[in-house]
Amino acid sequence: MALDGKGRVLILDDDPIVGRSIAQLCEYLDIESVAVTDPTEFFRFVTDWNPTHIILDLVMPEMDGVQVLQQLARQSCRARITISSGVGNRVLDAARRSAVEHGLDIAGVLPKPFSVTALKEVLFSDPYGFAPALVADRPNNVDVPELTKEDIQNAIAERQFRLAYQPIIHCETKLLKGFEALVRWDHPTKGLIMPDRFIPMSENLGMIRQITDQVIEMALKWIGSLVNSSNLTISINISAKTLGDLQFVDVLEEKCKQARVSSDVVILEVTETAAMDDQLPALDMFTRLRMKGFHVSIDDFGIGNSSLALLARLPFSEIKIDRSFAMTSISSAESRAIIKSTVDLSHSLELSVVTEGVEDIETLDFLRDIGCDLAQGYYIARPMAGDAVADWMAERSEYSRHNLL
Ligand code: C2E
Ligand code: CA
Ligand code: CA
Repeated sequence: MALDGKGRVLILDDDPIVGRSIAQLCEYLDIESVAVTDPTEFFRFVTDWNPTHIILDLVMPEMDGVQVLQQLARQSCRARITISSGVGNRVLDAARRSAVEHGLDIAGVLPKPFSVTALKEVLFSDPYGFAPALVADRPNNVDVPELTKEDIQNAIAERQFRLAYQPIIHCETKLLKGFEALVRWDHPTKGLIMPDRFIPMSENLGMIRQITDQVIEMALKWIGSLVNSSNLTISINISAKTLGDLQFVDVLEEKCKQARVSSDVVILEVTETAAMDDQLPALDMFTRLRMKGFHVSIDDFGIGNSSLALLARLPFSEIKIDRSFAMTSISSAESRAIIKSTVDLSHSLELSVVTEGVEDIETLDFLRDIGCDLAQGYYIARPMAGDAVADWMAERSEYSRHNLL
């Protein structure tokens, strides 16, 4: 059960009657709660009372719910948030997507007026047990120490980067297709630092190539050493800044030779916006990569401003649909429509398509039904250390022997 007496529910609704009735329901369920009508008071409770769940009205006179969500994201709020409102479902969906993008933990949206059952469902449907369970897996954004250029220089010199590997499976057969390598910085005093905190900074400082080189070396060595790895692919993220780097392709080819890994198991992921920014270097590099047998994937597809013509012209082999769509696909017809039309588009361009951010079986079933090729996400497995993968694979083959996949 998600709320078991340890929970604290904070409600922000400009209508005191709504707030009070939710609070009464919480009381009935033996859950501590506070209902407030004023955003300033709300943020005082967020800070001092540290709620585990928040129920938030989207439309309020003084400050709208979207601003409240932005402020919560700035404060790195860890509570599980339910958005409620009388506005239409499309607006609720949009607010939910933006909150997820901001890194908030969104339990669901609750269109008003809602029934007691609907509210109970949202409060009790926490798939992670209680919210703190999620925390360990997340970047620690609270009281984060400042990172400096020297920190990054040291990290490169002392090879402080580690990789986590996240499986990618075939939607139809559920068989393993390969892994995406995701970089983490194992800082000696500051702890584990997630890529969103240092990749953009390293790009701006012109230090991303050195990190990419180390990532490539580690990823190739790992996939090359994996027992029973026959033809498993390894996806590696490359920064758009690398597109203009003329030596990159040769260096990559050399590293593959050293690790005895065939180029055709290597997939390079470049984000959509980045790849589109500057057409010519991208075209040149992708063409060279493809000629040498590497695959190129367009990452985070659907959130940038993609030009379909350009997509057809650049020699991608794969489209990777941004995780925000799968993460909202159950509640949002719009997300489902975008996924389906991207799958159809990809197939008409003879590209294979991966959907990432798959957090539940319903989404995986949906992807299989619409013919999506590949899936990646917490439902299948979270990113894990390289030496945990063998156990994961053994456990999976055990499951599949019993037809449990
Ligand atoms: P990305 O390439 O879109 O990677 C997927 C991100 O989604 C990963 O976050 C992964 O942990 C997370 N994820 C996977 N499945 C789920 C799911 O079901 N639900 C949710 N909520 N999230 C899921 P991570 O590891 O924090 O990486 C963030 C971004 O950092 C990556 O986004 C990528 O853009 C960048 N990055 C990671 N490694 C590298 C690297 O080696 N080089 C470069 N240039 N960028 C990297
Ligand atoms: Ca990626
Ligand atoms: Ca992505």
